[in-house]
Amino acid sequence: MRWSWVALGVVVAVLAAGATNPVAARPVQMPGAVEVLALEPNSADIAVLRWGRREGMTYRLCFNTEYSFTGLGACYDLGPSDDWPVRVPEYDGGIFYLTLQECRLPDCAEPVRAGAVGRRTGAGAGFYATALPAADGRVRMSAFAGSGPATISFYRAAAGAAEMRTLTCPDIPAGEACYGAELSPAGARVGAGAALPGGREQGITFQLRDRPVIYLMFDDGTGIVSGGKYLMQSVLDEFGVKGTFFLTGPAMRTYPSAVRALVAGGHRVGSHTWSHPFLTRLSDAAVGQELDLTEQQYRATIPGGTLRPCFRAPNGDINARVLAVLHARGYQQYTQSISSEDYAGVPAARMIRTVLAEAKDGASISFHTQESQTATALRTIIPALLAQGYQFGIVC
Ligand SMILES: [Zn+2]
Repeated sequence: MRWSWVALGVVVAVLAAGATNPVAARPVQMPGAVEVLALEPNSADIAVLRWGRREGMTYRLCFNTEYSFTGLGACYDLGPSDDWPVRVPEYDGGIFYLTLQECRLPDCAEPVRAGAVGRRTGAGAGFYATALPAADGRVRMSAFAGSGPATISFYRAAAGAAEMRTLTCPDIPAGEACYGAELSPAGARVGAGAALPGGREQGITFQLRDRPVIYLMFDDGTGIVSGGKYLMQSVLDEFGVKGTFFLTGPAMRTYPSAVRALVAGGHRVGSHTWSHPFLTRLSDAAVGQELDLTEQQYRATIPGGTLRPCFRAPNGDINARVLAVLHARGYQQYTQSISSEDYAGVPAARMIRTVLAEAKDGASISFHTQESQTATALRTIIPALLAQGYQFGIVC
């Protein structure tokens, strides 16, 4: 709790008000969309919710048992605070979905999502987990071990039926937390699970979106760049949507300003190896070198950045041995669920038909950066999917 900051804020506000030019009428601010900053475990029964407080505003927190605004549950007026202790459900399988509203009473803005908190208490490792979705589609998760030592895992699908599992915290003692796993959910679900040594995992699954999501993925990076920007980025930016670009090392070396433009534009860059080989034909050491050289080139371009965990194997050529090398270095393979087949010269009209016919929640679609007909197709595909209610997420 940071009550001292609240008090200080009031003092600063009073001083600032005294110093204001009396001629300039201060515009009355209307309540707006509150920015939720964090939802994290604090103790065995309490998670702390933090948000960006604005001067003159009060806040209202509601607890729902479903991810829906229709059944607005218990609501509490929190006053001019910027954090709040959220009580975790006590019963096995209980989940609270939170919404937060900014108010200047008697008016309140539309509620915004403020994450979810859920508990398991059955036989095995008792725990609770928190999940907070961000604007970019990623979800930040944490969990608190009620018994231990617990191995805590996070999933980007239902717990126990994972498309991808992130093992973040082994051997967490009872009464301690595992913080800050970041996941891009495939579909609308993320999960967390906990297991005692030799025991079965207990899981809990959060349903965190009411809009379906699509992931656009672009490979290679060897073309088309104009004005220091990939053409495909320019198309995404026209519609204000984000994509993930899996680039080769030489492409990053050739177009460093285009790589910087991707990062500055909120897109994600992943690894597509150095020399675009068939990885299953290489030794483990050679696969490792492909990864390391590409990572080094990215870090030379984006200081402090990393490509991890984002990776796509050239030509889709991958097997268990190559995957083991990837995983040991912190990468994950992101296979598409829909291929545009743009690399094969498929015309825009056919790409549009294929993608729109196969699009569904959680789908990831592969394109390439060097195909001009892809830009044409995207200018139809993106607005069509937006009109169907899809949002566009970053896959890794
Ligand atoms: Zn490729």
